[in-house]
Amino acid sequence: MQFDSLKETAIALDKADDLSRFRKSFTIPKHTDNTESVYLCGNSLGLRPNKAVTYVNEELEDWARLGVKGHFDKEFAWTRYHEFLTESMATIVGAKHEEVVVMNTLTPNLHFMMVSFYQPEGKRRKIVMEADAFPSDTYAVASQIKFHGGNPDEDIIRWQPRPGENTLNIEDLQQILSQHGDEIALIMIGAVNYYTGQYFDLKKITEIGHSHGCMVGFDCAHAAGNVPLNLHDTGADFAVWCTYKYLNSGPGSIAGCFVHERHAHNERLPRFAGWWGHDKEERFLMKDQFKPIPGAEGWQQSNAPILSMAPIRASLELFMEAGFENLRAKSEHLTSYLEYLLNDLPGDRIKIITPSTVKDRGCQLSLAVKNADKSLFERISDKGVIADWREPDVIRVAPAPIYNSYMDCWNFTQILKSSL
Ligand SMILES: *Cc1c(COP(=O)(O)O)cnc(C)c1O
Repeated sequence: MQFDSLKETAIALDKADDLSRFRKSFTIPKHTDNTESVYLCGNSLGLRPNKAVTYVNEELEDWARLGVKGHFDKEFAWTRYHEFLTESMATIVGAKHEEVVVMNTLTPNLHFMMVSFYQPEGKRRKIVMEADAFPSDTYAVASQIKFHGGNPDEDIIRWQPRPGENTLNIEDLQQILSQHGDEIALIMIGAVNYYTGQYFDLKKITEIGHSHGCMVGFDCAHAAGNVPLNLHDTGADFAVWCTYKYLNSGPGSIAGCFVHERHAHNERLPRFAGWWGHDKEERFLMKDQFKPIPGAEGWQQSNAPILSMAPIRASLELFMEAGFENLRAKSEHLTSYLEYLLNDLPGDRIKIITPSTVKDRGCQLSLAVKNADKSLFERISDKGVIADWREPDVIRVAPAPIYNSYMDCWNFTQILKSSL
């Protein structure tokens, strides 16, 4: 891709961008001088789709108008509310409808999936994770190991970068499996690593894992709504993700869960059950014997928190309208543009640690800052950039194709340049 660093080019790229019209469907937080912030933090919390206000209000009104009857007697009936999200969500993560459910929040979903898919037995007790896994995932994995009487210090294997490198090499994972394959019960990897932004080859990882008899699951928190996932085709046993990052569904909103169809009817898998996972026909017959809904829905426990689900509807509508392939095409171009501008900065204080190969990343770029303390990040924040800082020395920036512009990337780079 050919770029230059002129402001006119950023303006022209925005003009030529078919998807630029979606920006006005979101509210961009204002900086102290009342101009729009340069918001590059969709990897942490996506912006509010304006329609979310309408949809949440509709549910509040229906509650007032209908009381308990709102569970059944309305278009978006509360007993079925999660079902209205399934089709779009399945499209975004590349799965069959039966394989996807929106429920709970992310870390609980990860636990519930491990209840079913981490079954240490005999010698096979270990879990493989990536080196810089998100702390919540590490806590969840370590506590599951302890729950089964194991020792996390022995039973977690970390897939490490090679000396002097930041990203992970799949050959090293292969090596781990060749050496310890029969001791590994589960491979659980963040599909896009939260720190480096590296997007892994999920299909390959699954093949490697399955060929050694391991279960394979992915945390797609940084992948859902960001990269093309094709979860079904990867063959993974399970996946979990949140909806408040690239899926713009609001702080703490309800998460997604994928269970591959090969497990849809497997009632021998252990699971922590609840009435919302029970056969819908019989749910209100209050029977004692649990009869799971086939597929991912059978892992539900509670009736759904409607007020947290309403914004998901608003966001997914925009994704469907824009088309995920179009969003990905823009994303690849937009992030490459930002990469170009950053590489064009004078000096060598900024080093991008995210892979430079487009297929190995989503929209996030992680910038390692030489001799950094947090002051550089504070200076750019004072000038209207909203990004995030990860100790010890990384600034993460993620132009989200659904609301970010080429001008955002240009403004960010100018502010960074003047703050270095
Ligand atoms: C954002 C994120 C989380 C956060 O977990 P919650 O349960 O939603 O608080 C966990 N794991 C990963 C990989 C994340 O990116």
